Amino acid sequence: MIKNLLSYLERHRSIDVDTTEEIIRFLIRSDVGPKTSRLLVKNITNSSYKPADQLKKNIIDLLHVVNSPFILPERESCAILMVGANGVGKTTTTAKLAVYLKKTNQITIVGADAFRAAAREQLIKLLEPLGINVFTSFKHKDPSAIVYEAYKEANSNNSNLLIIDTAGRLHTNINLMAELNKIKSTVKKISNDHLPMVILVLDGTSGRNGIKQVVEFNKALDVDGLIVTKLDGSAKAGFILEISQATKTPIFFICDGEGLNDLRPFNPENFAENFLQGQFE
Ligand code: GDP
Repeated sequence: MIKNLLSYLERHRSIDVDTTEEIIRFLIRSDVGPKTSRLLVKNITNSSYKPADQLKKNIIDLLHVVNSPFILPERESCAILMVGANGVGKTTTTAKLAVYLKKTNQITIVGADAFRAAAREQLIKLLEPLGINVFTSFKHKDPSAIVYEAYKEANSNNSNLLIIDTAGRLHTNINLMAELNKIKSTVKKISNDHLPMVILVLDGTSGRNGIKQVVEFNKALDVDGLIVTKLDGSAKAGFILEISQATKTPIFFICDGEGLNDLRPFNPENFAENFLQGQFE
Protein backbone atom coordinates (compact mmCIF):
# COMPACT_ATOMS: atom_id res chain seq x y z
CA MET A 1 0.00 0.00 0.00
CA ILE A 2 1.48 3.36 -1.02
CA LYS A 3 1.87 5.82 1.86
CA ASN A 4 3.69 8.61 0.07
CA LEU A 5 2.51 9.07 -3.52
CA LEU A 6 5.14 11.70 -4.33
CA SER A 7 8.07 9.44 -3.51
CA TYR A 8 6.32 6.54 -5.27
CA LEU A 9 6.07 8.64 -8.44
CA GLU A 10 9.71 9.68 -8.14
CA ARG A 11 10.56 5.98 -8.34
CA HIS A 12 8.13 5.31 -11.23
CA ARG A 13 8.83 7.98 -13.76
CA SER A 14 7.22 6.11 -16.66
CA ILE A 15 3.57 5.67 -15.91
CA ASP A 16 2.01 2.46 -17.21
CA VAL A 17 -1.52 1.16 -16.66
CA ASP A 18 -0.58 -0.55 -13.38
CA THR A 19 1.02 2.61 -12.00
CA THR A 20 -2.03 4.64 -12.95
CA GLU A 21 -4.26 2.14 -11.13
CA GLU A 22 -1.99 2.39 -8.05
CA ILE A 23 -2.40 6.18 -8.09
CA ILE A 24 -6.16 5.87 -8.40
CA ARG A 25 -6.24 3.38 -5.52
CA PHE A 26 -4.28 5.86 -3.36
CA LEU A 27 -6.73 8.64 -4.19
CA ILE A 28 -9.84 6.56 -3.58
CA ARG A 29 -8.46 5.25 -0.29
CA SER A 30 -8.02 8.90 0.74
CA ASP A 31 -11.72 9.63 0.09
CA VAL A 32 -11.42 11.14 -3.38
CA GLY A 33 -14.39 9.90 -5.42
CA PRO A 34 -13.69 7.56 -8.40
CA LYS A 35 -14.74 10.18 -10.94
CA THR A 36 -12.47 12.89 -9.51
CA SER A 37 -9.64 10.37 -9.18
CA ARG A 38 -9.83 9.51 -12.89
CA LEU A 39 -9.97 13.21 -13.76
CA LEU A 40 -6.82 13.86 -11.74
CA VAL A 41 -4.72 11.21 -13.50
CA LYS A 42 -6.05 11.84 -17.00
CA ASN A 43 -3.17 13.89 -18.39
CA ILE A 44 -0.22 12.81 -16.25
CA THR A 45 1.29 10.45 -18.85
CA ASN A 46 1.34 12.87 -21.79
CA SER A 47 2.44 16.02 -20.00
CA SER A 48 5.66 17.99 -20.28
CA TYR A 49 5.73 18.02 -16.46
CA LYS A 50 6.97 15.10 -14.39
CA PRO A 51 3.99 12.88 -13.36
CA ALA A 52 4.24 13.94 -9.70
CA ASP A 53 4.30 17.63 -10.65
CA GLN A 54 1.41 17.23 -13.09
CA LEU A 55 -0.68 15.45 -10.47
CA LYS A 56 0.07 18.16 -7.92
CA LYS A 57 -0.83 20.81 -10.49
CA ASN A 58 -4.13 19.04 -11.26
CA ILE A 59 -5.03 19.07 -7.56
CA ILE A 60 -4.14 22.75 -7.16
CA ASP A 61 -6.20 23.62 -10.26
CA LEU A 62 -9.18 21.72 -8.87
CA LEU A 63 -8.93 23.60 -5.57
CA HIS A 64 -8.67 27.00 -7.21
CA VAL A 65 -12.43 27.44 -7.01
CA VAL A 66 -12.53 27.16 -3.18
CA ASN A 67 -9.37 29.16 -2.54
CA SER A 68 -10.56 32.46 -1.13
CA PRO A 69 -8.77 33.77 1.96
CA PHE A 70 -10.56 34.55 5.20
CA ILE A 71 -10.85 38.33 5.57
CA LEU A 72 -12.85 40.01 8.33
CA PRO A 73 -15.04 42.89 7.15
CA GLU A 74 -13.43 46.26 7.86
CA ARG A 75 -15.97 47.63 10.30
CA GLU A 76 -15.95 48.91 13.83
CA SER A 77 -17.56 45.68 14.94
CA CYS A 78 -18.60 42.43 13.37
CA ALA A 79 -19.83 38.96 14.24
CA ILE A 80 -19.04 35.44 13.10
CA LEU A 81 -21.67 32.73 13.39
CA MET A 82 -20.21 29.24 13.73
CA VAL A 83 -22.59 26.53 12.54
CA GLY A 84 -22.39 22.81 11.88
CA ALA A 85 -23.60 19.39 12.95
CA ASN A 86 -23.00 17.92 16.39
CA GLY A 87 -19.50 16.73 17.20
CA VAL A 88 -17.78 18.17 14.11
CA GLY A 89 -15.50 20.29 16.30
CA LYS A 90 -17.43 23.59 16.40
CA THR A 91 -16.59 24.61 19.95
CA THR A 92 -12.94 23.59 19.62
CA THR A 93 -12.71 25.47 16.30
CA THR A 94 -14.39 28.56 17.78
CA ALA A 95 -11.63 28.62 20.40
CA LYS A 96 -8.92 28.08 17.75
CA LEU A 97 -10.31 30.88 15.57
CA ALA A 98 -10.39 33.26 18.55
CA VAL A 99 -6.75 32.48 19.32
CA TYR A 100 -5.85 32.96 15.64
CA LEU A 101 -7.58 36.37 15.49
CA LYS A 102 -6.74 37.70 18.93
CA LYS A 103 -3.52 39.48 17.93
CA THR A 104 -5.44 41.99 15.86
CA ASN A 105 -8.88 41.92 17.48
CA GLN A 106 -10.60 42.37 20.79
CA ILE A 107 -12.87 39.35 21.00
CA THR A 108 -15.95 38.23 22.90
CA ILE A 109 -17.20 34.67 22.50
CA VAL A 110 -20.71 33.45 23.21
CA GLY A 111 -21.99 29.88 23.32
CA ALA A 112 -25.53 30.64 22.18
CA ASP A 113 -27.10 27.56 23.65
CA ALA A 114 -28.30 27.76 27.22
CA PHE A 115 -28.55 23.97 27.36
CA ARG A 116 -24.91 23.34 26.54
CA ALA A 117 -23.18 24.34 29.74
CA ALA A 118 -20.33 21.93 29.06
CA ALA A 119 -19.43 23.72 25.81
CA ARG A 120 -19.46 27.05 27.65
CA GLU A 121 -17.21 25.68 30.40
CA GLN A 122 -14.87 24.36 27.68
CA LEU A 123 -14.59 27.86 26.14
CA ILE A 124 -14.05 29.57 29.49
CA LYS A 125 -11.32 27.14 30.47
CA LEU A 126 -9.52 27.47 27.14
CA LEU A 127 -9.88 31.17 26.46
CA GLU A 128 -10.13 33.26 29.58
CA PRO A 129 -6.48 32.59 30.52
CA LEU A 130 -5.63 34.08 27.09
CA GLY A 131 -7.55 37.28 27.71
CA ILE A 132 -10.50 36.40 25.48
CA ASN A 133 -13.82 37.36 27.00
CA VAL A 134 -16.48 34.62 27.23
CA PHE A 135 -20.06 35.82 27.71
CA THR A 136 -21.65 34.16 30.75
CA SER A 137 -24.38 36.45 32.08
CA PHE A 138 -27.30 34.46 30.76
CA LYS A 139 -30.71 36.01 31.43
CA HIS A 140 -32.49 34.08 28.69
CA LYS A 141 -32.74 30.61 27.22
CA ASP A 142 -33.56 31.71 23.66
CA PRO A 143 -30.37 31.67 21.52
CA SER A 144 -31.24 34.95 19.73
CA ALA A 145 -31.85 36.71 23.05
CA ILE A 146 -28.52 35.37 24.34
CA VAL A 147 -26.77 36.71 21.25
CA TYR A 148 -28.48 40.09 21.68
CA GLU A 149 -27.17 40.36 25.26
CA ALA A 150 -23.73 39.15 24.24
CA TYR A 151 -23.53 41.71 21.43
CA LYS A 152 -24.33 44.49 23.90
CA GLU A 153 -21.70 43.21 26.32
CA ALA A 154 -19.15 42.94 23.51
CA ASN A 155 -19.78 46.58 22.59
CA SER A 156 -19.53 47.75 26.15
CA ASN A 157 -16.21 45.99 26.74
CA ASN A 158 -14.80 47.36 23.46
CA SER A 159 -14.71 44.04 21.64
CA ASN A 160 -14.77 44.56 17.88
CA LEU A 161 -15.55 40.91 17.17
CA LEU A 162 -18.24 38.62 18.57
CA ILE A 163 -17.81 34.92 17.73
CA ILE A 164 -21.01 32.94 18.23
CA ASP A 165 -20.79 29.20 18.86
CA THR A 166 -24.13 27.47 18.25
CA ALA A 167 -25.69 24.14 19.12
CA GLY A 168 -25.01 21.18 16.85
CA ARG A 169 -27.79 21.12 14.37
CA LEU A 170 -28.73 18.51 11.88
CA HIS A 171 -29.26 20.17 8.55
CA THR A 172 -32.46 18.18 8.18
CA ASN A 173 -34.04 19.88 11.18
CA ILE A 174 -36.00 22.84 9.82
CA ASN A 175 -36.71 24.33 13.27
CA LEU A 176 -33.07 24.49 14.11
CA MET A 177 -32.18 26.12 10.79
CA ALA A 178 -34.93 28.67 11.49
CA GLU A 179 -33.32 29.34 14.86
CA LEU A 180 -29.96 30.02 13.21
CA ASN A 181 -31.64 32.39 10.78
CA LYS A 182 -33.23 34.17 13.72
CA ILE A 183 -29.77 34.66 15.24
CA LYS A 184 -28.63 36.10 11.90
CA SER A 185 -31.52 38.57 11.87
CA THR A 186 -30.84 39.55 15.47
CA VAL A 187 -27.23 40.38 14.64
CA LYS A 188 -28.38 42.33 11.59
CA LYS A 189 -30.81 44.35 13.67
CA ILE A 190 -28.35 45.23 16.39
CA SER A 191 -25.37 45.97 14.13
CA ASN A 192 -26.51 48.60 11.65
CA ASP A 193 -27.89 46.11 9.17
CA HIS A 194 -24.72 44.02 8.90
CA LEU A 195 -25.19 40.27 8.71
CA PRO A 196 -22.76 38.07 10.61
CA MET A 197 -20.21 36.09 8.64
CA VAL A 198 -21.40 32.46 8.60
CA ILE A 199 -18.76 29.74 8.92
CA LEU A 200 -19.72 26.10 8.53
CA VAL A 201 -17.51 23.69 10.45
CA LEU A 202 -17.17 20.32 8.74
CA ASP A 203 -15.71 17.09 10.03
CA GLY A 204 -13.06 16.05 7.49
CA THR A 205 -13.84 12.40 8.10
CA SER A 206 -17.51 12.65 7.17
CA GLY A 207 -17.19 11.77 3.47
CA ARG A 208 -20.17 12.33 1.21
CA ASN A 209 -22.39 13.22 4.16
CA GLY A 210 -20.18 16.29 4.65
CA ILE A 211 -20.89 17.44 1.11
CA LYS A 212 -24.60 17.14 1.77
CA GLN A 213 -24.13 19.30 4.87
CA VAL A 214 -22.47 22.05 2.80
CA VAL A 215 -25.33 22.01 0.31
CA GLU A 216 -28.07 22.06 2.96
CA PHE A 217 -26.50 24.69 5.24
CA ASN A 218 -25.85 26.86 2.20
CA LYS A 219 -29.46 26.58 1.15
CA ALA A 220 -30.70 27.61 4.59
CA LEU A 221 -28.09 30.15 5.64
CA ASP A 222 -25.76 31.40 2.88
CA VAL A 223 -22.50 30.10 4.23
CA ASP A 224 -19.50 32.43 3.69
CA GLY A 225 -16.87 29.75 4.13
CA LEU A 226 -15.81 26.45 5.63
CA ILE A 227 -13.42 25.20 8.25
CA VAL A 228 -12.61 21.52 7.79
CA THR A 229 -11.55 19.79 11.01
CA LYS A 230 -9.88 16.52 11.97
CA LEU A 231 -7.57 16.31 8.98
CA ASP A 232 -5.10 14.57 11.24
CA GLY A 233 -5.05 11.01 12.51
CA SER A 234 -7.33 8.78 10.54
CA ALA A 235 -8.67 11.58 8.35
CA LYS A 236 -9.18 11.14 4.65
CA ALA A 237 -8.16 14.52 3.31
CA GLY A 238 -9.32 13.73 -0.25
CA PHE A 239 -12.75 14.76 0.98
CA ILE A 240 -11.61 18.36 0.39
CA LEU A 241 -11.25 17.66 -3.34
CA GLU A 242 -14.79 16.35 -3.43
CA ILE A 243 -16.09 19.50 -1.71
CA SER A 244 -14.42 21.67 -4.32
CA GLN A 245 -16.06 19.59 -7.05
CA ALA A 246 -19.53 19.64 -5.51
CA THR A 247 -19.70 23.20 -4.16
CA LYS A 248 -17.84 26.46 -4.65
CA THR A 249 -17.96 27.45 -0.98
CA PRO A 250 -14.56 28.85 0.03
CA ILE A 251 -12.45 26.82 2.43
CA PHE A 252 -11.02 29.33 4.90
CA PHE A 253 -9.06 27.04 7.22
CA ILE A 254 -8.23 23.44 7.92
CA CYS A 255 -7.60 21.92 11.37
CA ASP A 256 -5.11 19.14 11.92
CA GLY A 257 -5.20 18.56 15.66
CA GLU A 258 -7.03 19.24 18.90
CA GLY A 259 -4.64 21.97 20.11
CA LEU A 260 -5.53 25.66 20.09
CA ASN A 261 -2.93 26.39 17.42
CA ASP A 262 -3.93 23.59 15.05
CA LEU A 263 -5.78 25.90 12.66
CA ARG A 264 -4.19 26.79 9.34
CA PRO A 265 -5.32 29.06 6.51
CA PHE A 266 -6.22 26.84 3.60
CA ASN A 267 -3.46 26.84 1.01
CA PRO A 268 -4.01 24.60 -2.06
CA GLU A 269 -0.28 24.18 -2.72
CA ASN A 270 0.54 23.09 0.82
CA PHE A 271 -2.54 20.93 0.83
CA ALA A 272 -1.61 19.16 -2.44
CA GLU A 273 1.95 18.55 -1.23
CA ASN A 274 0.91 17.19 2.19
CA PHE A 275 -1.93 15.18 0.76
CA LEU A 276 0.24 13.41 -1.83
CA GLN A 277 2.88 12.72 0.80
CA GLY A 278 0.23 11.03 2.93
CA GLN A 279 0.85 13.49 5.75
CA PHE A 280 -2.80 13.74 6.76
CA GLU A 281 -2.86 10.06 7.72
P1 GDP B 1 -18.93 20.30 18.62
O1 GDP B 1 -19.94 19.37 19.18
O2 GDP B 1 -19.11 20.47 17.15
O3 GDP B 1 -18.82 21.62 19.35
O4 GDP B 1 -17.52 19.54 18.77
P2 GDP B 1 -16.33 19.74 19.82
O5 GDP B 1 -15.62 21.03 19.58
O6 GDP B 1 -16.85 19.50 21.20
O7 GDP B 1 -15.34 18.58 19.34
C1 GDP B 1 -15.70 17.21 19.33
C2 GDP B 1 -14.42 16.37 19.44
O8 GDP B 1 -13.62 16.54 18.29
C3 GDP B 1 -13.54 16.77 20.63
O9 GDP B 1 -13.03 15.60 21.22
C4 GDP B 1 -12.42 17.59 19.99
O10 GDP B 1 -11.23 17.55 20.73
C5 GDP B 1 -12.28 16.88 18.66
N1 GDP B 1 -11.69 17.73 17.61
C6 GDP B 1 -12.08 18.96 17.19
N2 GDP B 1 -11.30 19.40 16.19
C7 GDP B 1 -10.36 18.43 15.95
C8 GDP B 1 -9.25 18.28 15.03
O11 GDP B 1 -8.95 19.15 14.17
N3 GDP B 1 -8.55 17.12 15.12
C9 GDP B 1 -8.84 16.14 16.02
N4 GDP B 1 -8.11 15.04 16.03
N5 GDP B 1 -9.87 16.24 16.89
C10 GDP B 1 -10.62 17.37 16.87
